[in-house]
Amino acid sequence: MDALGYKCPNCAADIQFSAKEQKFVCEYCNSSFTEQEMKEIAALQEQQHPDRPEEAQQPDDEFTEHTSVYSCDSCGATIMADENTAATFCYYCHNPVILKGRVSGEYRPSYVLPFQIDREAAIGHFKEFVKKHRFLPKDFLSAGQQEKIVGLYVPFWVTDVNVNAEMDALGKRIRSWTSGNYSYTETQEYALARKANVVIKGLPADGASHIDDDLMEAVEPFDYAKIKPFAMQYLSGFLAEKYDMDYAKMFPRIQNRAVQASDQLVRQSMTGYSSVSVTRSDIKVMNTKWEYMLLPVWFMTYKYNDKVYEFALNGQTAKFVGEPPLSKSRLAAFCIGLGAAAAVLTMLLGVIVS
Ligand SMILES: [Zn+2]
Ligand SMILES: [Zn+2]
Repeated sequence: MDALGYKCPNCAADIQFSAKEQKFVCEYCNSSFTEQEMKEIAALQEQQHPDRPEEAQQPDDEFTEHTSVYSCDSCGATIMADENTAATFCYYCHNPVILKGRVSGEYRPSYVLPFQIDREAAIGHFKEFVKKHRFLPKDFLSAGQQEKIVGLYVPFWVTDVNVNAEMDALGKRIRSWTSGNYSYTETQEYALARKANVVIKGLPADGASHIDDDLMEAVEPFDYAKIKPFAMQYLSGFLAEKYDMDYAKMFPRIQNRAVQASDQLVRQSMTGYSSVSVTRSDIKVMNTKWEYMLLPVWFMTYKYNDKVYEFALNGQTAKFVGEPPLSKSRLAAFCIGLGAAAAVLTMLLGVIVS
């Protein structure tokens, strides 16, 4: 097998044959494959057909001609908008943004999941959140702050992952009983072996480095049944972040999640024992197939005591996530109130007792 021109099945970087390891090794994502594995993956990739909507028409001059790019000098966010939607401030740090020109074709998404929650509904969800959290700073959802709630198409790498998992374990079944004056314990040991090919479909990871990864994972899931081939009309009235992490840079996150999920799945198959201890676990991502798509998120950041708090509302399902800042003064006022109530109560008790 000639190594020239071969791509890593996981991250698509060029892959080299390492004479030392006698394997194809990707220096970028640290994946390694035997020649046999490379052949199997190539065969697998050929027979797998994507069950996605039909391909968007590829070169789209509309996108490059009508998409403006704005950049924020303060936090580095790069924002895309159609020419009728002006971006004036940075959705992340709220500083003014500067128009940089037109976007380039490589940032054209393949798919988009259109917003289903409109602005009014989104603000409604933020208001509900405020009702539930009584110690939020007073201006948390002031009129000015409401303007900072932005319908943002977040760039996501949505990936189908094939994982090979092998696991050996020792399972024990313990049975105890008494007979006459004797008590017995019987321990049965089982050598467990599992070999699984796990296929995970539609694992998302965002390609915007300054949006919190945990926040984006918390806002999942998205229903990909509603995705559409990208067209300019979906951008209208919304902003989109331009990715700054390409697929190869983001891949370790997908790898981690896929390995963890597969590990869990295989462990779950070892049931019916008093105890199971894993003696060998070899879990490896074998190949991936990804699409660059925009997913809808209502996004708001709030600066409080020099810390940026991020909130996200899934623009499709309205799932709300974010940790609220606690207003120290409002909390203190509440505690003083409590303290005062306790003091009054003590005094009353004092009166009754005396
Ligand atoms: Zn790689
Ligand atoms: Zn910014």
